[in-house]
Amino acid sequence: MKNKKNGSRSMGVRRTMRRRFFLGHGLCCLMALTCFTSQAAAAPVRIYILTDLEGASGVYKFDQTREPGHPLGETAKEYLMGDIAAVVKGLRDAHVDEIVVVDGHGSQAFVPHLMAPGAVYITGKPRPGLMPGLDASFTGLIQLGAHAMMGTPDGVLCHTQSSRPENRYWYNGVESGELAQVAAIAGHYGVPTIMATGDEATCREATTFFGPHCVTVPVKRGLAREAAALYPFEETRQALYEGARRAVAAIKLCRPYTLAVPIQARKEYLVFEGPEKKSRRITKEGTIDDVLKLFEF
Ligand SMILES: [Zn+2]
Repeated sequence: MKNKKNGSRSMGVRRTMRRRFFLGHGLCCLMALTCFTSQAAAAPVRIYILTDLEGASGVYKFDQTREPGHPLGETAKEYLMGDIAAVVKGLRDAHVDEIVVVDGHGSQAFVPHLMAPGAVYITGKPRPGLMPGLDASFTGLIQLGAHAMMGTPDGVLCHTQSSRPENRYWYNGVESGELAQVAAIAGHYGVPTIMATGDEATCREATTFFGPHCVTVPVKRGLAREAAALYPFEETRQALYEGARRAVAAIKLCRPYTLAVPIQARKEYLVFEGPEKKSRRITKEGTIDDVLKLFEF
């Protein structure tokens, strides 16, 4: 595992700004000096947010997520942007130095004019990997708008990677959804998953895989795959804002999620054959030597 928290140029600029601020006020008391020293010693807090659409507030059916250009999809994207804005604001108010938000939904879901300030937003395909730029310099990962793994009875829009062929994955004998897959990539760089948002089932799954210190914020409760008890946006956004602040406070308690290599992997999926498109279940088994190649299996 590589060590994280490198210095950076932006940190140097921030340090200089802080220094100027305190010198300008004449270092009026010892408290200010102590505060300055401790801040200058701290590494910048950099948060990487990977988003998905299925776990956003107000999203509960595939018409909202599958077809690019569908009117319901366009409003669903706006719902996601509202959730992102609440989390970004919470992180900013918790004095996070840098925030990168990445569009992780297959058909892409960002609405640029709704970007909350204080972060950069990465979208578009093809691009170099699911999580471009993620490395050991990040302090924590947030999985925002996530969904539960395929087969979760109360998981709203639950799936793992591909929803139509009903893909399922096992690593070292443990069935894993997208939450664990993404966390394992981040874990390779020593970056812990500090927060997960989605439905109640997603939050339960996050706690199972990442432990109790990973902050979870449910924005709905699933009744079936395409039915949910939705929580009002005013309430979910407030909870997301507060959750982000709590997640920053709890970073030090979170541990990276890692998979031991070589990974014993199994994948199950459906193929549809013949004029009636009858489904047949296929099982693939093998080993994965490098966690960064997880998505190639
Ligand atoms: Zn997904």
